[in-house]
Amino acid sequence: MPAVSSIPIPALHRADVLVIGGGVMGLWAGVMALRAGLSVCLIEASRIGAGASGGLLGALMPHMPDRWNEKKALQREALVSLESEIARIEAETGLSCFYRRCGRIMPLLRPQHVERALRHGEDAAQNWPVGHVWRFEAQPGIEGWPDRAGAPAGIVVETLTARLSPRALLGALDARLRADPHCRVIEDDPVRSLDAQEGSALSASGLRLGFSACIVAAGVESFPFLAEGLPSSAPPLGQKVKGQAALLDARIDPALPILFADGLYVVAHENGQVAIGSTSEEQFADPASTDEQLDALIARAVALAPGLAGAPVIERWAGLRPKAIGREPMVGRHPDLPRLFALTGGFKISFGIAHHMAEAVVGEILGRPMTLPQPFLLATHMSLARTGGKTRA
Ligand SMILES: Cc1cc2nc3c(=O)[nH]c(=O)nc-3n(C[C@H](O)[C@H](O)[C@H](O)COP(=O)(O)OP(=O)(O)OC[C@H]3O[C@@H](n4cnc5c(N)ncnc54)[C@H](O)[C@@H]3O)c2cc1C
Repeated sequence: MPAVSSIPIPALHRADVLVIGGGVMGLWAGVMALRAGLSVCLIEASRIGAGASGGLLGALMPHMPDRWNEKKALQREALVSLESEIARIEAETGLSCFYRRCGRIMPLLRPQHVERALRHGEDAAQNWPVGHVWRFEAQPGIEGWPDRAGAPAGIVVETLTARLSPRALLGALDARLRADPHCRVIEDDPVRSLDAQEGSALSASGLRLGFSACIVAAGVESFPFLAEGLPSSAPPLGQKVKGQAALLDARIDPALPILFADGLYVVAHENGQVAIGSTSEEQFADPASTDEQLDALIARAVALAPGLAGAPVIERWAGLRPKAIGREPMVGRHPDLPRLFALTGGFKISFGIAHHMAEAVVGEILGRPMTLPQPFLLATHMSLARTGGKTRA
């Protein structure tokens, strides 16, 4: 009689698409795959929104309207199409994402900034969607938003920027997935190993998951999964950049535009709360802690918008943004492993583009030509790593 192994082989659970990661990228990937008629298993190491996506800001800001290129055009399309995508998810789930095209105000500090602002106005007229403007105004039109002292040379007002509630969007996407009989969502179970040749993954709890295609959307943890085939001397495919943000119970008008000044975001949300962010830290000891750098941001926000003074800080939060080696998002099929796909590296703009990137990856899985620019492709990032490329600052 042959010897019987005492180690049980876990049963194989199969789906057309395995999505690793329950952040904004992974959730949109699941939704797009289901819409395309594919079955989906989404597996999340912790809980939905445990990574960078579970934050506070939700700003959806376009790139500058000058020096127009393919990348800026793609983001413009994504920001425009997001509005109807969100309306669709809201209609399907009955849940609000608290989306609003609120626009943005940028204070100008020096007279020479005015000329540039006027030039950008012409660029926006040429490159932005019809009806959206980038406009110089000599002084703030909304009292205290920003304070005149913070905008000595006037302000720029632009109308393309929007915002949403990150957690509400994740909740709606999650609900959309769970309501679909062709989708399984697993939480609290990290993927430990991936065999992209064979088409299977093993989770920490011992689940064996079979797939035809695997989309790696594990945020900052994506890079090692995707590095297969790179020499051990190659630099990592991406890095972790910490960000801190705060939420104030400011009880202000939710329709106020986002204030944006030199890396500082002040975002009014639908419930009158205000999110303030964000630090950008490449060196840090504790990814989850907040510190005096966040206090300084809050102080800057209060100086810019004095109406926020005294508003209780109801949450302090930190997360790790995925920054790919080539700086652009990292998307698409692995050059040597046809079942393996990347969907990460959104760095500071994931919420505005995730639906668009996810749709492109699902299209590629279905055999459609990849429509995203070359610098976004996983293959491009891998070539950069092969030649020892460093992430640009
Ligand atoms: C302070 C701050 C402010 C920001 N503000 C904005 C903003 O205003 N607008 C904007 O567009 N972007 C903003 N960003 C950036 C944005 O949050 C990120 O780019 C985005 O959330 C990345 O989404 P993701 O799905 O790629 O990764 P994540 O949200 O990090 O999701 C990855 C998920 O994968 C899971 N995971 C990891 N390893 C495994 C594994 N082995 N198995 C299974 N699951 C795994 C993680 O638990 C996590 O939930 C901000 C980021 C920070 C930190």
